[in-house]
Amino acid sequence: MNWSDFSHWGRKVADWAQDYHLTVGEKPVRARTEPGDVLNALPTTPPETGEGMEAIFADFEEIVMPGITHWQHPRFFAYFTSNAAAPSVLAEFLTSAIAPQCMLWQTSPAATEMETRMMDWLRQSLDLPEVFRGVIQDSASSATLAAVLTMREKALNWQGNEQGLFGQTNLRIYCSSEVHTSIDRAIWVAGVGQKNLIRVPVKGDWRGMDPTALEAAIQADIAAGHQPAGIILCVGGTGTGATDPVDQVLDVAERHGLYTHVDAAWAGSAMICPEYRHYWPGIERADSIVFNPHKWLGVQFDCSAHFLKDPDDLVNTLAISPEYLKTHGKDGIINYSEWSVPLGRRFRALKIWFLIRAYGLEGLRQRLRNHVAWSNQLHDKLKLEPDFEIVTPPMWSLWSFRYRPDGVENLDDLNLQLVNAINDDGRIYLTQTRVDGTLVIRFQAGQFETTEADVMRAHQVITEIARTL
Ligand SMILES: *Cc1c(COP(=O)(O)O)cnc(C)c1O
Repeated sequence: MNWSDFSHWGRKVADWAQDYHLTVGEKPVRARTEPGDVLNALPTTPPETGEGMEAIFADFEEIVMPGITHWQHPRFFAYFTSNAAAPSVLAEFLTSAIAPQCMLWQTSPAATEMETRMMDWLRQSLDLPEVFRGVIQDSASSATLAAVLTMREKALNWQGNEQGLFGQTNLRIYCSSEVHTSIDRAIWVAGVGQKNLIRVPVKGDWRGMDPTALEAAIQADIAAGHQPAGIILCVGGTGTGATDPVDQVLDVAERHGLYTHVDAAWAGSAMICPEYRHYWPGIERADSIVFNPHKWLGVQFDCSAHFLKDPDDLVNTLAISPEYLKTHGKDGIINYSEWSVPLGRRFRALKIWFLIRAYGLEGLRQRLRNHVAWSNQLHDKLKLEPDFEIVTPPMWSLWSFRYRPDGVENLDDLNLQLVNAINDDGRIYLTQTRVDGTLVIRFQAGQFETTEADVMRAHQVITEIARTL
């Protein structure tokens, strides 16, 4: 294989990809392989001599594809979606051909300047004030780690990187009990320590942090000689869409001068629609916000948008400038590697540009609104079934339920059995979570090509399979 054969194989791959996306709905959503199937189908040693593309491609179809869970399936209702809309896949194809390493402005000025412009397009799309500046991170986990490091450095008067944390007072960071595990890991990696992550109880239908309990926790920590450093807010949590009362939590943060980071990894995409912005009142007062355009907006995975009110705090935390990374004589340029933990950076802005231009914001809003409307329709229909119970109400397109027929004692077991049976069946794909200790089944709609019929088909599959248990 060499570049003169590329166009032949590139066309084949493009045909394959088009066909895959147009027919993926006919396949079972979750992979049916057993552990070890793929591993055992792969030779235990690498080949000494090159093989033809024909054979490599045939094995891709034969060995790899059966072991793929179809995230681009229109009836993927598990976890959150991880999208790949057609124009953004094209952009990614181009990016993979150019393969630029975009750590500095000079290592590809177009990538840096495209990133600056696209992050500003996204900022406007979410109606965040102009003061916010953005950077593309490789994941929401990385954005949250960068924010926690910033909280740490600010609280330690920029001495943490230099002196380490040994012998420092305990820094305290606050979040609700509903946050994603990426918060715990950011706390571990930043050296803050799990015991210094204070989980504030939640209340109400939105399962949001109780601001009175937050205030009390901060006061108690100060009295005990600890040092509050920051608050991580949750807008659209992974389990049930838990959402903190943003304005009230930010009031507490302001009172204590604490840095704030908002994890809206999934729900942030929905904020391109004005009617959902009541879920984060006062968001313009936050210091740092992350959302994943790959989750619901349609950008090809991966792409994480990180907004900062004052990027200098982040740059003071992460920038390191050995001589070989200096860009002498160029003023006013941005080197985005100073804004992120990894040095190397892919050119991710191109796929945002392709996507937004191909559909326009109005086209993207329409898709999101449909997902929410159809998901609510399904919720209303399942609610009418006497042997089903809605456990958490729709937050955007996410809600949870359980099967509760009369006379069954262990409902957790029954519902686990149900979700497994549904996923073995393969027409739809769902995942479970726990709400106050109870096992529940989640439903969310967000796949780019899903239709009303796809969403409503879940009603038939869920009720039919439940009643055979
Ligand atoms: C998906 C998700 C994350 C993690 O995102 P990554 O980009 O995979 O790191 C964090 N928080 C929430 C609320 C999520 O839904």
